[in-house]
Order: sequence, then structure tokens, then C-alpha cells
Amino acid sequence: MDLILLGPPGAGKGTQAKKLVELTGIPQISTGDMLRAAVAAGTELGKKAKAFMDAGKLVPDEVVIGLVEERLAKPDCGGGFMLDGFPRTVPQAETLENMLGRLKRKLDHVLLLDVEDEELVKRITGRRTCGECGSIYHLVFSPPPAADTCKCGHKGLDQRADDNEKTVRERLTAYHKQTSPLIDFYGKRGLVRKVVGTNATPDDVFASAKRALRLG
Ligand code: AMP
Repeated sequence: MDLILLGPPGAGKGTQAKKLVELTGIPQISTGDMLRAAVAAGTELGKKAKAFMDAGKLVPDEVVIGLVEERLAKPDCGGGFMLDGFPRTVPQAETLENMLGRLKRKLDHVLLLDVEDEELVKRITGRRTCGECGSIYHLVFSPPPAADTCKCGHKGLDQRADDNEKTVRERLTAYHKQTSPLIDFYGKRGLVRKVVGTNATPDDVFASAKRALRLG
């Protein structure tokens, strides 16, 4: 299954991707995670990306496209992939279409997670992640089992540098302007499976996502 997870920041793409990985074994490819790893490692690419990410703006297409092209060529993507956070612009989507064409592959689904802006701001500013196992929490809606401690036992949950209200609003502006045209792009190709995430728990959304993707 070749799948894209589409939706605004905080819609639950990462959370749903992790559940879908558990169910299907297909790898999650998160461009946000790859870029954060490059920033943390201080690579040339990371240095280029950092200022854009800190400002809540999209990293230039050519930087991200190179990363994805390399990742899709890895053997674990042979049976399918789950793109989380890519494509985010129409040129990225067009490039992906060409890339997949060269590999004689075609997208099966674009899972669109639809959540209202004000809920997104609340979700993102309360989001915390475990640097050890990648689990995602929300201080109020989905708290860790003990204060500042992950279920894996790791102490000291992290808040992403760009998960503050000012940057979140920039990221939402970028989503509405540059990414939401993809709903139409993939709608025309008959690929969009929409799931409403406003006022829904991650398990509710997962149940709807499985139905939408015909996974049970
Ligand atoms: P995410 O973890 O998906 O919310 O991404 C965090 C940040 O990484 C975004 O705000 C962008 O600055 C950058 N980013 C991630 N994916 C892309 C992409 N496909 N195109 C451009 N920038 C991206």
C-alpha cells in the first residue's frame, strides 16, 4: 500500500502513522522527523532547514524532495510506504508522481485528517514527545502515565521547538496557502479518503481511518 497522510499540523498524522505501522508493517516516512534529525546532527542540510522550521515556514522543495527520493529507494519501501508530512506543496506532489511513475508505482490512498484550526492550536501547544521511543502525548488530552515520564520509562518528555503558539499559527497559514491545494490535486485523481478528527480521540480516528483504507 502506497499511502500519503495529509492534514494540518497537529491533525494526528504522526499518531495515526504509528498505529498504521503497527497494523501493516509498512514504514512511516516523516519528512519532519528526518529534517529534525538533520538539524540535531548539524548536517549541511539541517543547517539550511533550521531557520525555515523555527519560523514555521516550509523548507524549500528541493531540500525535502532529495531526502524523500533517497528514502523511497530503500528496500523496506518495496512493499509500500506511508508518507507523513510530504508532499506539502503542489510541486512536491508533481515530483512525487514522476518519481513513482519511474518506479512503476502508483499511490493507493491519500488519508486526509481534517481538524479545525483552534483545536489544532490547543493540541500542538500541549504536545510532548519521548526522545527515546517516539511516543506522542498531550498534557491534557492524552497525558503520560506519570508526570514527565514516558510509558517506556524514559524521564523528561520533549516539546518541539516549533510547537509554540506563534509558530503554530505560521504553520497553519503555510498549510492553508501551500498544502491545502493538494486536497483538490488528489481529489481529481480519486485518491482522497477524508476522516474528521475534530472532537475525536486517536482511537476513534484510527477506527475511521481503517474503514476508509479498507483495512477492517
Ligand atoms: P512536521 O513535523 O511535519 O510538522 O514538520 C515540521 C517542519 O518541517 C515544518 O513546519 C516545515 O518547516 C518542515 N517540513 C516538513 N516536511 C516538509 C515538506 N514536505 N516540505 C517543506 N517543509 C517541510
